[in-house]
This record gives sequence, C-alpha cells and structure tokens, in this order.
Amino acid sequence: MAVLEILKYPHRVLKKRSKEVDRIDDEVKTLIHDMAETMYEANGIGLAACQVGVPRRIIVLDVSPLDPKQALFAMINPEIISEEGEIDYEEGCLSVPDCLEKVRRKEKVRVKGMSPDGKEMEVAGEGILAIALQHEMDHINGLLILDRVSRVKREIYRNKLKKERRKGTGL
Ligand SMILES: [Zn+2]
Repeated sequence: MAVLEILKYPHRVLKKRSKEVDRIDDEVKTLIHDMAETMYEANGIGLAACQVGVPRRIIVLDVSPLDPKQALFAMINPEIISEEGEIDYEEGCLSVPDCLEKVRRKEKVRVKGMSPDGKEMEVAGEGILAIALQHEMDHINGLLILDRVSRVKREIYRNKLKKERRKGTGL
C-alpha cells in the first residue's frame, strides 16, 4: 500500500473524462487500496482515480466521519441510475485546496457499478453519501466544484491561486 500524490487544480488530468475499466486486474486492485490509503491520509471522504493521476472510472468513498452508518467502499464504472430532490451543501475538494463552495446536488441518488471483486453492486445514497457520490462522479467526468459555481467565484479562486504562487516564488 502506498500514499499517492493528489493532483491539484488546474492539472489537466482533472479536466479529462476518465475511461471505463474493462478488466479488474491486480493493478486495479492495488490502485483501489492505495486510493483508500491516500484518501484517509488526506482526511478526505471520497477520492476518484483521476485525482491520483489515473484517468479510469474508479471511486472510493468513506463518509462515515459525517454519517456513522456508512463505511468504506470502492466502485468501478459507476453510473447514476436514478436521482431525486435537491440539496445545497458546502463542498470542499482535495484537488482544490482552500476552497469551500456551496453546490446544488440531488438529495438522493442510486448508483450502480462494479465492486473490486467484479460483482455488480448498487448503492442508494442520501444526504452526504449522495453528495459525495455525485462529487466523485463529477471527477470521473472531468468536472470540479469550480465548474459548478459562478464564473465570478471561479475567477476569485484563480486570482487567489495566482497570488499564492507569486508569494511562493518570492515575486
Ligand atoms: Zn474532489
């Protein structure tokens, strides 16, 4: 197991649509373990493979810090099959540091995909689990929370990043 580097905005891999996984081999299984370890190390509740530089449709989630009924799981090639209601929630992202933005999501979603042992699985999520599922689904479709907020907010974040970079290089 290994903690991997989490790519940060505006890395180009984060903007790409990730590709389907056609075979769950040892490489995919190792990646899933490493993603979980990386997520825990960063105190995150979800992570998509593209965030560690692998543009494949794999997500891991563990929202138990916010909803104790839940636990760690991974999903391969996830697809939303039904959705219901609306909810606004202030989201952060491990790839967009120091940014909290209110995003409108569906309140409930049902997602189907494959488990790491190759079995079909379905997850019905409500509240934080539904939000986290949609956030990670966004990642594998090349979208970030910054793509879900107004242009003005996006500009503010970009400018903040530029200023920090200037500070970092002493200019
Ligand atoms: Zn994220």
